[in-house]
Amino acid sequence: MIIPIIEKYIKEPKIAYFSMEIGLRPDIPTYSGGLGVLAGDTLRSAADLNLPFVAVTLIYRKGYFHQKIDDKGHQIELPAEWDPSLLMTTAPEKVTVTIEGKPVYIQAWIYFVESVRGGNIPVIFLDTNLPENTPENRGLTDSLYGGDENYRLKQEAILGIGGVRMLRKLGFQIKKYHMNEGHAALLTLELLHEYKKDIEAVWDESYIWDFEAVRDFCVFTTHTPVEAGHDKFSYDLYNRILGGYFPEKVLRKLAGEKYINMTLLGFNLSKYLNGVAKKHGAVSENMFPGYRINAITNGVHSYTWTSESLKKVYDKYLPGWANEPELFVRVGVIPDEELWAAHFEAKRKLIDYVKSVAHVDLDYDKFTIGFARRATAYKRADLLFYDIDKLERIGTGKIQIIYAGKAHPKDTEGKQLIEKIFSYIQRLKGKINIAFVQDYDMEVALKLISGVDIWLNTPLRPLEASGTSGMKAAHNGVVNFSVLDGWWIEGHIEGYTGWSIGPAPTDVGSDKDMNRIDAEDLYKKLENIIIPTYYNDRKTWVRMMQNAIGKNAYYFNSHRMMRRYVTEAYIR
Ligand SMILES: *Cc1c(COP(=O)(O)O)cnc(C)c1O
Repeated sequence: MIIPIIEKYIKEPKIAYFSMEIGLRPDIPTYSGGLGVLAGDTLRSAADLNLPFVAVTLIYRKGYFHQKIDDKGHQIELPAEWDPSLLMTTAPEKVTVTIEGKPVYIQAWIYFVESVRGGNIPVIFLDTNLPENTPENRGLTDSLYGGDENYRLKQEAILGIGGVRMLRKLGFQIKKYHMNEGHAALLTLELLHEYKKDIEAVWDESYIWDFEAVRDFCVFTTHTPVEAGHDKFSYDLYNRILGGYFPEKVLRKLAGEKYINMTLLGFNLSKYLNGVAKKHGAVSENMFPGYRINAITNGVHSYTWTSESLKKVYDKYLPGWANEPELFVRVGVIPDEELWAAHFEAKRKLIDYVKSVAHVDLDYDKFTIGFARRATAYKRADLLFYDIDKLERIGTGKIQIIYAGKAHPKDTEGKQLIEKIFSYIQRLKGKINIAFVQDYDMEVALKLISGVDIWLNTPLRPLEASGTSGMKAAHNGVVNFSVLDGWWIEGHIEGYTGWSIGPAPTDVGSDKDMNRIDAEDLYKKLENIIIPTYYNDRKTWVRMMQNAIGKNAYYFNSHRMMRRYVTEAYIR
């Protein structure tokens, strides 16, 4: 049976994009951070560019949590339940995956990412909340990054194995499978089942599996240089949950002898591998010796990440910019006053918003530093407070700061970071005003990245694979002040597109030294260069805003990224 709503999508072979999280819009809370928002930007650009795409993810009816923070800075996690039926439709077709010896039934919700340019991409959200399933299995698609490793492996089986089966059942023909991180790597095993060689008796079982055929179909993007960021499962767990699905002996050759490393599995069965920035590609090659890992540096969806006031200015001076971000090369045609006025409007809106939600009175004319990202240790949200007396001396009366970020419910260190920031807010009250905006999501992100004056980024090298919020800031003429890691190594020209913090990317010392060295450089530049330029040399400041747009946004957008995936990964 052909399902009417997808009929027109199954005529042409597609690139199937698999991602554990996808950030499509704030009211579909099925993303937790950068990985999901990047997946959303990928699909938005693919739609604008009319690429033949279909995406697969899980429905997460309980969403990712809403964050509330009490007076002491303790994070409280509230459920983010939502109703998919208000935004998407179900297909009647069902598939099953055998988990712990029993079939788990899966149905699909279908949402369309539509572009004003006519492109339209179906996104398949897999759902196990069906009457055929046991109560436990019904919950398998409830929570993003919730539960234990049992739960996670089952989710990955639904995504990878169930996802391929669902695409087939719905009638899609697939010409490439793109795994956005290792969570979907089990799809390679499902493809091996599909491409078994037609040989009768073999002396070595591995000969019946056509690895080369599957490799031709697969593209794998790795997203983290953090060892713990690569999913690993024991063979015991695998056998308990998926035993009999694929021979363990062969799997050990593909995914590792000791445990199943999902990244390794993806690597071994993909013809094209890449990291998400040049440095990250190189770091990943060191982590996985013997593999050729390319680099396609991330980008963000220009239209999505530009404030209303800047959009108006771009429409006036650079018509067509949204679908051709290369036009930012002509940013110099925008008069300084108009660029500044558009920025000031975004800033005014942000400060009004902060007052309404965080009840902190900030000043429209004061230099405003923004920092927002997942609250997790390596991002070092507290580096700015490394020497709080020094910060007080440099910043009193001159700066104000806006923070946001959720800590993963199990990330104790991340939660402590938020508590620390709350204590600094108290400590500096009346001298440096600091607001913490709760419940960071795509909507809050747009307000912040467009409304502050400078975007601060202080990850511990080399742990930031790419980072994307700084690219969003650049789209709004907000200059970056960042450690040289991830994309900023490629986007940074000192004093021109923004400023660096700390040493060149190659000089990496011990963590403790790095905190001191980076913090000292941060204070030095803030005091001697950045604050004075902001207040005393508006012309230079606006020139740098132009450079952020003309050099950073010009390049670090997802249209460029997708064109590179097409020419380097998909059509090879
Ligand atoms: C862009 C974005 C991120 C990613 O920010 P990084 O700078 O890569 O850490 C995370 N969360 C939300 C809500 C975003 O919009």
